[in-house]
Amino acid sequence: MSGLEVVIFDWAGTIVDHGSLAPVRAVCQLFARHDVVVDEATARRDMGLFKRDHIRRILETGEIQQRWREVHGNAWSEADIDGLFSDFQLLQMEVLQAHSKLIFDAGALGERLRRRGLKIATTTGYTRPMLDLLLASAAEQGFRPDLAISPDEAGGGRPHPWMCLKIALATGLSAMRAAVKIGDTPADVAEGLNAGMWTIGVSATGNETGLSADDLAALADCERKRRLEWAECSLRQAGAHYVIESAAGCEAALEAIERRIAAGERP
Ligand SMILES: [Mg+2]
Repeated sequence: MSGLEVVIFDWAGTIVDHGSLAPVRAVCQLFARHDVVVDEATARRDMGLFKRDHIRRILETGEIQQRWREVHGNAWSEADIDGLFSDFQLLQMEVLQAHSKLIFDAGALGERLRRRGLKIATTTGYTRPMLDLLLASAAEQGFRPDLAISPDEAGGGRPHPWMCLKIALATGLSAMRAAVKIGDTPADVAEGLNAGMWTIGVSATGNETGLSADDLAALADCERKRRLEWAECSLRQAGAHYVIESAAGCEAALEAIERRIAAGERP
């Protein structure tokens, strides 16, 4: 492939953990321990952000602020965020291994992309220890990216472009338009756009549909179609250049981007 040099994948809901279930479970459990009920929709709303920022966004929700005050007698503070984030890291590590299965044969995809001359990189909302757990598990399953960056080593996470910029520097990217960001949340799309990269959203396997492969397959056809259309709409509204059901099928979109680059287009 000429024109594209690097493909940057997200992890949960894109490469591993169909439906991005692990972070939702950890976030809901975290708040439940503080007698604050956070429903799944609220837990998913800001998915993709660095987890510390994600916890803050949930606390900033009107009804959650009110409930926190009822339970704790005062408004949440920065110290509460520190405590919640600390607890979250333990909770998330406990459930992560169980949700580290590859969604598809990402190892084979990575090899095909490398044969086209592309480098494989990743970004995430997880911390470095969580990312290391996923990297070890993915390597056992055959997927080994060339480079993986976490928000805590880039000065912050999505929607900032900084993880993507670190990847651009480390891989010697010739221009930002020579990279593609692929992910399952509006925050992933914003990250790629803020970095000046092409973006591909994934609808069926990710947070916007929010179901395991089995649960998605068990839906009635019309309901499955409705959920996928909703997910696609959400990712397109965020500005994704392409939306595909799974990153497994990204090669056609990558080829379309190559043609647009060849025609002189920019993201
Ligand atoms: Mg994700």
